Amino acid sequence: MSGTHEDAAVSRRVRRLETLLEERGVVVGAELDEALDAFLAGASPANGARVAARAWTDPGYRERLLADGTAAVAELGFVSGGVRPQRLRVVENTEDVHNVVVCTLCSCYPIGLLGPSPGWYKSEAYRSRVVREPRAVLAEFGVRLGEGVRVVVWDSTSETRYMVLPRRPEGAARAGSEEELAGLVTRNGLIGTALL
Ligand code: FE
Repeated sequence: MSGTHEDAAVSRRVRRLETLLEERGVVVGAELDEALDAFLAGASPANGARVAARAWTDPGYRERLLADGTAAVAELGFVSGGVRPQRLRVVENTEDVHNVVVCTLCSCYPIGLLGPSPGWYKSEAYRSRVVREPRAVLAEFGVRLGEGVRVVVWDSTSETRYMVLPRRPEGAARAGSEEELAGLVTRNGLIGTALL
């Protein structure tokens, strides 16, 4: 076999390996590192807060957000994940339904909208218990829900991430600007482990 042939075969194998690594979320290469650094530098719960505040103040945006979270956050310049494409599904808290997000398998999380995940989100205790006894876990976070409220637990996957659209706070804050409203949104509120 000539050197050229060997090189071509090696190149093919390397490309194939790179593709496999990317598909599995294992990322190599300086360009990807840079892209990841840039993504992480902008990743903050302030992004998710802006999304929530926009949804509260713009009914059309709220509709688009609930129908296709990925596209709606992109309208504001946000992405859920930095490397691979991820579908974002936004689930809305109402008078009757309270949503909470987990990844039972590992720690999938919409980092682009919420920043790095808190330690408890990755803990075995949270991941296993919130599915079995969501009300007890929520109570430990200080979230007390009426008897009539249905709790829905959303289990993340590598392809789909979830964010909660909290209920808009009552009272004085109702009259606030979008920016003021965003200031009322907490990271845990966007996970479902806090009320606003
Ligand atoms: Fe995970």
